[in-house]
Amino acid sequence: MTDNDKAKQKLPLKPRKNNKSNLLALIFFVIVGIFFAALFFRPVAPATQTISYSTFTHFLDQKNISKVKIIDNRTIEGTLKNGIPTLFRTYIPYQDPALLPKLMENDIAIEGGSANNSLWRILLELTPWIIGFAFIYFMMRNAPGGGGKAFQFGKSKVKKYEDNGKKITFADVAGQKDAKYELEEVVAFLKDSERFTRMGAKIPKGVLLVGMPGTGKTLMARAVAGEANVSYFHMSGSDFVEMFVGVGASRVRDLFEQGRKNAPCIIFIDELDAVGRTRGAGYGGGHDEREQTLNQLLVEMDGFEANSKDSIIILAATNRPDVLDSALLRPGRFDRQVVVAMPDVKEREEILKIHTKKIPLANEIDFDRLARATPGMSGAEIANLVNEAALFAARRNRDFVTMEDFEEARDKILMGVARTTLAISEKERKMTAIHEGGHALLHYFLKNADPLHKVTIVPHGRALGMAMSLPEADSYSRTKGWIEDRIVICYGGWSAEKLFYEETTTGAKQDIQQATEMARHMVCEWGMDDDMGPIAYGQEEEPIFVGKEIARHKDYSEETAKNLDIAVKKILNKAKERAQAILMEHRIELEKLADELIVKETLTDEEIRILLGIEK
Ligand code: ADP
Ligand code: MG
Ligand code: ZN
Repeated sequence: MTDNDKAKQKLPLKPRKNNKSNLLALIFFVIVGIFFAALFFRPVAPATQTISYSTFTHFLDQKNISKVKIIDNRTIEGTLKNGIPTLFRTYIPYQDPALLPKLMENDIAIEGGSANNSLWRILLELTPWIIGFAFIYFMMRNAPGGGGKAFQFGKSKVKKYEDNGKKITFADVAGQKDAKYELEEVVAFLKDSERFTRMGAKIPKGVLLVGMPGTGKTLMARAVAGEANVSYFHMSGSDFVEMFVGVGASRVRDLFEQGRKNAPCIIFIDELDAVGRTRGAGYGGGHDEREQTLNQLLVEMDGFEANSKDSIIILAATNRPDVLDSALLRPGRFDRQVVVAMPDVKEREEILKIHTKKIPLANEIDFDRLARATPGMSGAEIANLVNEAALFAARRNRDFVTMEDFEEARDKILMGVARTTLAISEKERKMTAIHEGGHALLHYFLKNADPLHKVTIVPHGRALGMAMSLPEADSYSRTKGWIEDRIVICYGGWSAEKLFYEETTTGAKQDIQQATEMARHMVCEWGMDDDMGPIAYGQEEEPIFVGKEIARHKDYSEETAKNLDIAVKKILNKAKERAQAILMEHRIELEKLADELIVKETLTDEEIRILLGIEK
């Protein structure tokens, strides 16, 4: 489920149903229904037997025929006086001029008309056709982007949201002061466009919301509509790009048509990069359909005057502004960008508060601590965290959501579900406690390290345990000292195992990976190695159609490569030795910590400080 789906689910709004296609389907079903009912309940006619013409003349001579019906000049149906079956049909092999006088002569009632079951025959003949059409109809219904809309290409995806009394406003969006400030202007314009036109001011037609997934771009667009109290049309970029060529362009046309009809309004195009990528770029040549759609979008955006009576503002969201076609960003189109940023500690706290309004909370919730314990989480992830916490509380049959539930929800999101049922041997538990204890203890003896949050030997996901630190504040850049200490902490597990068991386990795999990665960054990118100098080795290339995969371009000699490896190794070696030295010195404390971990499974910073007598 994407963030977007999540958002849609939570919002108490329903997109307008497409009544037309429902009606069409209904009529279709009624017709088919009547047809089959008629077929099954047709009057059961006594069987008619076809007899030869000679038999017929024989019966005629015997005066065994009571009446006949002449269907056409080759077919006669009739009734026998006696004999089973009484109904017969015969085909006349040649034009017999004597037949009619002969019938008259024998006093037989003669009727004209058509075969009495011809209606049924027609219906039967039509059956394969009807089944065929029904098949095609349903095929098209189920085609991608169909939903009964195959007959009305391009008309179906515009969603007008009507809020059921609960409007989303800026108050529902925590933080984002800068973005709100910029969007205030849009709101003011939609509310009272005349004030602006009188001054001859030009209001942007298109505003691009730029931000990482889950930062609240969609939410922000809805809030703008809510604040201005205007209609809101929502369409996702991927809705435009369909199987059929031309659908996207016609959907764009429809979207703007709807907008014009409902002005003043907001048209929101989510995930603009799905249609708006640079034209003619990428592997495998251009995508005709996408380019047509994009062209149509450009045409439509140019097609209305920004300051005319029908005030329409187009908002669009993307997390990849770098891949957008430059034509989209030209003045008069999406010429204004509003950054929707990842929340910082304070904002995370606000988001937590907004989302916990709807759930019953125990009094002891420490929002500040929770916010600090969720670095790097987006708004959507925090909303998810609150939901998970409520689920944990419900599962435990509590009346209130407690801090414990939040902690558990957080661990689940970061590390996977706690696996309390996993059978672990005593020896393995002891080793895990030593390993995690090693990580945890180092936090107290390194001066640049963040404080410890907690340490646990309850397995989460694939990890057997974990030691988490708690940054005091979000940081956007790190000092060399911090990174060096971080690498030392990474080696804490491995070193502790080595110290107590002589041999190490596979549990250190992730730690070693992390440490190596950081050391490599230090040398190759961050200029933190004195020998290799502040030089960027290897260019990161990000081809625009490969998405997240980063291809590293090697632009240095073999000689340099060797030196880089030596530098990385030196950093790692030094960190490892520091970890080993510290743990060796505090061996007694480590053992004490590990023993306590085996008993309690999870220890917080405070509990460890009390246990080991370490002052804050
Ligand atoms: P995006 O469109 O940027 O991917 P969404 O707008 O879909 O993100 O955000 C998903 C959900 O995350 C929202 O519905 C909301 O519940 C929550 N959310 C994100 N940012 C915020 C915020 N700043 N304040 C409150 N809730 C937020
Ligand atoms: Mg979104
Ligand atoms: Zn570890």
